[in-house]
Formats: sequence, structure tokens, C-alpha cells
Amino acid sequence: MADEEAGGTERMEISAELPQTPQRLASWWDQQVDFYTAFLHHLAQLVPEIYFAEMDPDLEKQEESVQMSIFTPLEWYLFGEDPDICLEKLKHSGAFQLCGRVFKSGETTYSCRDCAIDPTCVLCMDCFQDSVHKNHRYKMHTSTGGGFCDCGDTEAWKTGPFCVNHEPGRAGTIKENSRCPLNEEVIVQARKIFPSVIKYVVEMTIWEEEKELPPELQIREKNERYYCVLFNDEHHSYDHVIYSLQRALDCELAEAQLHTTAIDKEGRRAVKAGAYAACQEAKEDIKSHSENVSQHPLHVEVLHSEIMAHQKFALRLGSWMNKIMSYSSDFRQIFCQACLREEPDSENPCLISRLMLWDAKLYKGARKILHELIFSSFFMEMEYKKLFAMEFVKYYKQLQKEYISDDHDRSISITALSVQMFTVPTLARHLIEEQNVISVITETLLEVLPEYLDRNNKFNFQGYSQDKLGRVYAVICDLKYILISKPTIWTERLRMQFLEGFRSFLKILTCMQGMEEIRRQVGQHIEVDPDWEAAIAIQMQLKNILLMFQEWCACDEELLLVAYKECHKAVMRCSTSFISSSKTVVQSCGHSLETKSYRVSEDLVSIHLPLSRTLAGLHVRLSRLGAVSRLHEFVSFEDFQVEVLVEYPLRCLVLVAQVVAEMWRRNGLSLISQVFYYQDVKCREEMYDKDIIMLQIGASLMDPNKFLLLVLQRYELAEAFNKTISTKDQDLIKQYNTLIEEMLQVLIYIVGERYVPGVGNVTKEEVTMREIIHLLCIEPMPHSAIAKNLPENENNETGLENVINKVATFKKPGVSGHGVYELKDESLKDFNMYFYHYSKTQHSKAEHMQKKRRKQENKDEALPPPPPPEFCPAFSKVINLLNCDIMMYILRTVFERAIDTDSNLWTEGMLQMAFHILALGLLEEKQQLQKAPEEEVTFDFYHKASRLGSSAMNIQMLLEKLKGIPQLEGQKDMITWILQMFDTVKRLREKSCLIVATTSGSESIKNDEITHDKEKAERKRKAEAARLHRQKIMAQMSALQKNFIETHKLMYDNTSEMPGKEDSIMEEER
Ligand SMILES: [Zn+2]
Ligand SMILES: [Zn+2]
Ligand SMILES: [Zn+2]
Repeated sequence: MADEEAGGTERMEISAELPQTPQRLASWWDQQVDFYTAFLHHLAQLVPEIYFAEMDPDLEKQEESVQMSIFTPLEWYLFGEDPDICLEKLKHSGAFQLCGRVFKSGETTYSCRDCAIDPTCVLCMDCFQDSVHKNHRYKMHTSTGGGFCDCGDTEAWKTGPFCVNHEPGRAGTIKENSRCPLNEEVIVQARKIFPSVIKYVVEMTIWEEEKELPPELQIREKNERYYCVLFNDEHHSYDHVIYSLQRALDCELAEAQLHTTAIDKEGRRAVKAGAYAACQEAKEDIKSHSENVSQHPLHVEVLHSEIMAHQKFALRLGSWMNKIMSYSSDFRQIFCQACLREEPDSENPCLISRLMLWDAKLYKGARKILHELIFSSFFMEMEYKKLFAMEFVKYYKQLQKEYISDDHDRSISITALSVQMFTVPTLARHLIEEQNVISVITETLLEVLPEYLDRNNKFNFQGYSQDKLGRVYAVICDLKYILISKPTIWTERLRMQFLEGFRSFLKILTCMQGMEEIRRQVGQHIEVDPDWEAAIAIQMQLKNILLMFQEWCACDEELLLVAYKECHKAVMRCSTSFISSSKTVVQSCGHSLETKSYRVSEDLVSIHLPLSRTLAGLHVRLSRLGAVSRLHEFVSFEDFQVEVLVEYPLRCLVLVAQVVAEMWRRNGLSLISQVFYYQDVKCREEMYDKDIIMLQIGASLMDPNKFLLLVLQRYELAEAFNKTISTKDQDLIKQYNTLIEEMLQVLIYIVGERYVPGVGNVTKEEVTMREIIHLLCIEPMPHSAIAKNLPENENNETGLENVINKVATFKKPGVSGHGVYELKDESLKDFNMYFYHYSKTQHSKAEHMQKKRRKQENKDEALPPPPPPEFCPAFSKVINLLNCDIMMYILRTVFERAIDTDSNLWTEGMLQMAFHILALGLLEEKQQLQKAPEEEVTFDFYHKASRLGSSAMNIQMLLEKLKGIPQLEGQKDMITWILQMFDTVKRLREKSCLIVATTSGSESIKNDEITHDKEKAERKRKAEAARLHRQKIMAQMSALQKNFIETHKLMYDNTSEMPGKEDSIMEEER
């Protein structure tokens, strides 16, 4: 091959007219008027010489000549004296603020879980070892390459931003600080040199001609030497490239392998040198050998040898610039200024933006060096990082689009730099305020996603390409980065821009609301399982983003209310088909509800409702701020339409019930998976949990009887609760029983689940504690198993460590391995058998475990619900579900059927749930009676349950009967508990005072006996204050409800009583 090289052209001697030593060259440059022209002239003569042997270079010699004839003169010119001495001086004075070490792929990085602002803040190993964080809780990662060490960045760390080596003012570096060790002359020189350097680097890097150099560089006689250059792609396998090269170039395996390895590493390589025609022929050969039905041909170009040489040198010059900049902040700033300067009279963007925009067209090796150049200049100087970020955002859309159609890994795309900018809190705020970056990102998504839109303008990812969609996730990820730190100061402009971004984000959610609708398959099984992964994956990606948006909105009342209004509007716009559909009337117990005719089992239904769920999230936050009463100022009563808001989440829960009842088994596994993820820890916060909350919102604002009628109707169970039903069809009975169980469970959740700040009076810590308690009620678990079952926040934290020791004790590993956490005894009382995050298996395991435990302790086996925390005022009306007519009717029906020997429409599980609801009602009344005088407690569960039904028995009598049924032996203790509770409440009613003497044996009541006078007085005072507060809130809520009912007379029949008067309704059952 050496022969071939030599044959290309005659080598030219270095021009004699130029000075021979670096020093003399530097002073010659000094005499020139225009440094740029002189510099280019110099390069034009030398570069093609030095980089002559592209195919088989003597690297050492190359480096030596480039140092001698280019870099050393440049350095002399810069410093005006011996550069070695100067650089040595600078090295000792130049303590950097930032470490900025760029990670290689595979390098270990460290992040402090206690101090990092977010998990993207990392340290290199040296900095970590010399920092305070090595004694904190930390995580180790393996870098994918391209990131850099954040040591010294005060915005990246809550504490300890510097390691010992990068601490400012460290001994010996105080006096000659990095800020200004350079004399004026050097600065003047730098201002001359750097712009020329960067201009040349950029011009050559983005040079597109394959035969001609820019005119300024064409000073030599042109030779006829070309290269056939092969580029890397991510689609062709290693072997395929080797094969293609062997065939096309007719070369040995070893040579083809050598080329292929180099291409993979560097991104491009000359594989043949020669005349233009010969190279062109090789190019066509490689292309045809690498092409087949499923693959494009390899990317091959023919380039003139001098172009190759200059491009190679441009990158080398970039590395030199990196080195020089590491010595001084002034150098970095001068360089950045040159990069940002816009050429007068030119349409072109500034140099750095031109590089950015060219990124996707560049090969790997070039990208790496150019990104490093950005790291070592812009990213080391906060002010310039900001300016760079602004340029980046300016071209964001275009850059992302190019990345999406590019085939290189994200780690070597310029778009991967977003994390370095967007996660810096002050920068993020600035980019939102000044450039509306949230809207920019969401609009980018809206522009790249339309290919997945169906004719209803909803996303549909059937037949999607995983790679391409994976690239879209990167854009979604940027949204997360921007939102990761919530601003502490809100300017008017920030609010405005954030809201605009939120509106734009709602547009994306609108395309997701109701996407990928499905219809129940009857008769035949579906032929192909539809794709479901893409939609669920997007839900997962969005989970924390949705939560962060809600948190940002909740920064103040005004903002939240406006956001609520926007989101509400969006939900309504997506509900038009429902609003216009035909109506039907449901009746029971003297109540009736006019509603739309819709059946989950027949009509279209979708599991994707991000808009509804965002609204539920905003509602909870509104409740937390105590501002629900102001809602009507933003959304009129007339427009609010709570029954429309409830509709879609309710359908979703019904779908889950029907899937459990195997009504959808012909729809295949795809649906099963979706339902699984709907409730899984990875998605549930922004899917299942929010649907439950939306139903709680409905229950708090609708008449309880009408709410329950709606639930019965949607579960398609109105029939099943009709007394006259009689069927011998075992399948149908089984299906009904499952559906009833599912519905009762959801009713339990609506009334009982209050562990969400804003729904109930609880803290985030208490929520996490409760999750852990319920996991450990199943069995003792190792740390990792607990963590896996808790939702992670945007910082990948579960909050587990903060609370675990309050509820559990660690048991050291025995011989068998894992140490496990065991629940503390005092936490056992918080066990709720119907914890809404239990799967079916977890539920029965936990029930079994807890019963076994109680047995071992010689206790009864009753597992009543723990007293729930109080609802927040906005949700307080939910409890009215418990003592409304329809609920009593449902409970009674279940008990009567269990007693009726002819009836099959009941199960033991169903009974247990009915007991649970009874217990919740009694607990509620008891709590209320303990807090307020008897005559003020309007919650009359006891009273309602004591009424005689059509069977001439009240609920207590029914319970006594159930107790006598031998098959229900297992429920005996629970029934006894409930009957005692009836007694307790009765006595509380009769005594109408705070002191309760009881012998019922219930632990919680016993505690009440130990009340000292002082405590009692204090409690009374508190209770009175709470009562007044409640009264006020209730009045507000009543007004809301009343207004709602009045404006929706059509939805309610006119005979309906106003809330608070349910007592007068006949409890007649048919
Ligand atoms: Zn470092
Ligand atoms: Zn450091
Ligand atoms: Zn730390």
C-alpha cells in the first residue's frame, strides 16, 4: 500500500519564503495586517504535506510536524515568549472552578443521593474520592460517554459542590487566581487568533464539496489524488461491512477487518486511494455489495486528498484549542465570544450554531471532538453556557428532528447536551422566561408525532418503529429536565410563559386522551394482538412529567386556578361525543338518574386518559391549598359538569372489572398487559390512582344516591341488584359476582382511601409509610423488594430511607443471605385488608398472614379497617356515600342473598367487602360523635342501618343471622366486631357526651377512656374549632352542589331532594 501512496503525487518542499523557526514565524505573523489570511496561507501550504499519508500514516511524525510547524508558532504568537514557560506558569495559577472532566464510555461516575440537585449531577472518581459525598448515600453509574464531571458547579449540589482539589481559594491559588493572570498583550493576541482558529475549524468541518477546497486554501497545484471514504452507520453489522469491503476492494480479511474496526471507532475511514474514477468505482462497488432488500447501501464518499487533510487537521486544531482553553477563563471567554459573533451582512447563524446544525451530518469522531470543544469552553463559563443554551433552544426543533431521522446513538448527538443545560435551575428558569422553552419542546413533539395520529387526531402507535419512537422519548425527557427543579421565585413573565407551555402540553395530552380505543370482542378471538407497548411506554415516560407539571401549577393559587380552567376546558372538548349521545333513566329506591346510554361491554373504551387524570391531580392540589371554593370564579357551575368528568375514569375502572370477570378474554393478552400496567407501580400514580381520585371528586360533588346509580349503571349491575333476577346460568352468575366484588372494592376505595395529600389530611411521609406497612404485612422483605414496589419520583427516589425505621426493624441476614425488614408491632394496627395498591394475590397473602398472626397471639380473627384519616374539606362529602339509600340497599341485598339458600348471587369475598363498608360507616359515625355533640352529628349510619327493610329485618338482624351460618365460620369474628361497633355507636348516641365507657373490647375505644380532664378540655376546644371550620366548608360545598344540581336539572329528576334531607326519602325496596 505504501507504493500506492507514493504514486499519487509529488511531495512539495515546505515553502522557502516562510520563516523557519516558530519564533520567527510568530513575529512574521505579527507583521501581517490580516492574521486570518496569513494563517490560512500557512495552513494551505503545510496541512496537505503533513497529512499526506491518510491510508497508512506515521502518526508520531505527523504529530511532531504539526507541533513544530503550526502549534508552537501559534503559541509563540499568542504569548509573545516561550510558550512552555508561560503555560507552566498558568498551570500553577489557574485553579479552575469546575472539574469538567469528560467521561469516556464505560467510565464510573458517582452521584450523591443526599446532595445532588438531581440524578444527572455526577462526579468523576477523583473528585468523588476527595469530596464530602463519599460519606453520604451515593450511587455509582457507568457513563455512556459524553457527560462531564459537575464538581465545582454550585447549582448542581445542595452541599459540598467542590472537592478538595477544586475548592476556590485553596492554599497557593488565592493570589494569582484564574480570573486575571493574563497580561493585556496576551489577551489582544488571543482575540486575533481564536476567531481565526474557530472559523477555520467550522468552515472545514462543514465543507461539502468533494473535489474543491475553499479558494483561500487553493494555493498549490492541484493533484489528482482522491480517497474513497466509508462512513459508519448503526444498521449494518460488523460482518456485513467486512464482507462488502472484501468483495468491493478485493482485499484480505485482515485488511477489511482493520478498516471496519477503524470505521466503528472513528466514524469514517479512507479505504482506497487513487484517481477519481478508481475511487468512484470502488464507491459504487461497496454500495452495491452492502445493499439488500432490507438495508440501504453503506454511506460512501469520494473526497479529494487535500480536503481529507484539512478536515483531519481542523479536528486536531480543535483539540489544541481545548488544551489552550483549559489554562484560562479569559481564553474560554474570548473563544466563546468568537463562536457567538454573527458575521455582518451574512444570513448565516453564528459559528457555534452552524456547527450544531451540522452535527447530525458529521461522523462520530468529529462529533466527539466538537462536543468536547463545547464542554471545555461554553460549559465551563456559566454566562456563556447560558448563551449557548439560548442558541441551542433557538434551533431546538430542527436539531431534534435531525436527531430523530439520524441513525447514530444519542450519546454522540448534540441533542444529548440538553441535560447539561436544562437541569441547571437558573438556566431552566431563564430559558422558560426568555425563550419559552417548554412550548418549544412540546411543539417539537407535536411536530414529530403527527405520523402517529389517526383520523380522530388521537395517537395510534400500531406498527410503530421502536427505534424511532425511542428517539422521540428523548424529547419527552427534555421536558422532564426542564421541570426537574421547581422555581422558588416566580416572576410575572415566568408564570405567563409557564402557562403557555402548559397549554401547549395539554395539546399533546389531548391527542392521548382516549387514544387506542378498544371494543370488546365477542364470538371470535381477535386475530392479532394489537401493539400496546408504545402507548404504555409513553405513559411511563410521562408519569413524573405530569406530576411535575401539577406541582409547578400548584406553586400558587392563581396559577393553579388558571391551569385548572385550561385543563377542564381540554377535558370537555374531548368529551363532546359523550355529551351528545342518547339518554336512559336508571331508578332504584325512589331515586332516579337520567344518564347517557353507554356500555363498556359494547362501546369503545380507552385506558388512556391523561387529561382527566391531570385534572384530578390539579383538583387535589386545589384542595390542598384550600381553594376549591374559588373554583367557580374560573369554571362556572354550569360548565363544570362533574358527571362528564367522572364518566371516563369510571369506564376505565369498569373495564378493569370486566377484564377480571373474563368478559374480555377474546381480546387477547394485549389488554391484560395494559390493565396490568394501569395498576402497576410504574404507572399507577398517573393512571389508576387518579381515576380513583376522580371518582372521589364525583362523590364529593354529586348527590350520593345519583352517584351510586351511575356507578351501578356503568358496572352494568343495575339488573343484578334487581330483586327479581333469577338465572341458572352459572357463567353469568360467576360474572355478576365478580363484577359486584369489583364494584364494592372500588366503593371501598372511594370512601376509604384518603392517603393522598389533598384528599385526606396526610403528609407525603405518611403515604410512604403506609405503602411500606402494607408491603410488610404480606411478609418481611429485603430493602430492594420494598424499593421495587414503591413509586419513584423524578429524582428516582422513593423516600423509603426517610421513614422505614419508623415502621420496621431490620433483621440481619441469617445463614441464608438477605437481611429483611420486619414490621413493628405498633404498625400492625394500620393494616387495611382492602388497601388499593394490593394485587389480588397480595391481598389474599396479606389477609392470610394477618389472620394467622392474630391466631398465634390468641386474638380474634377480625380484620376491620383502621380508622382512616380525616378527609380534607373539599372531599368531606364523600362519606355521604356510606349512609345513602342506595348504599344501604346494596349492603342489605348482599346480606339477604347470603342468607337466602336459593340465591347464588353472592360470595364470601363480597360479604367481606360489605362488612368492610359497614365498618367504615360505623367508624365514621363513632369518630364524629367523639368530636362533636350528638345533636350536631348528621351522619346517621347507625340510624339508616337500623331501619327495617322489605324482609322485615334491619342490618343488625341480618348480621345475627349470618353469624349462625356454619359455612361463614371464618367471618364470625368480623361480624361480632361489627355488632359490638353498632353497640358502641348506639351508646354514644344515647349518652351524647364525649366520655365513653365501654366494655366492647375494641382497642381503639379503650384508649379513649384514658382521658384526663385537661386533655378533655383541650380536645373539646379543638373539636369546636374544627366543627366551626367544617361547618363553613360544608356550607361552601353545599352551595357548590346545590348550584350544580340546579344548573343540571335535566340530569336529575325534579323530585330529587336537596342534600341534607335524604332522611325523608322512603326507604322502600322493590
Ligand atoms: Zn471531577
Ligand atoms: Zn473536583
Ligand atoms: Zn453528598
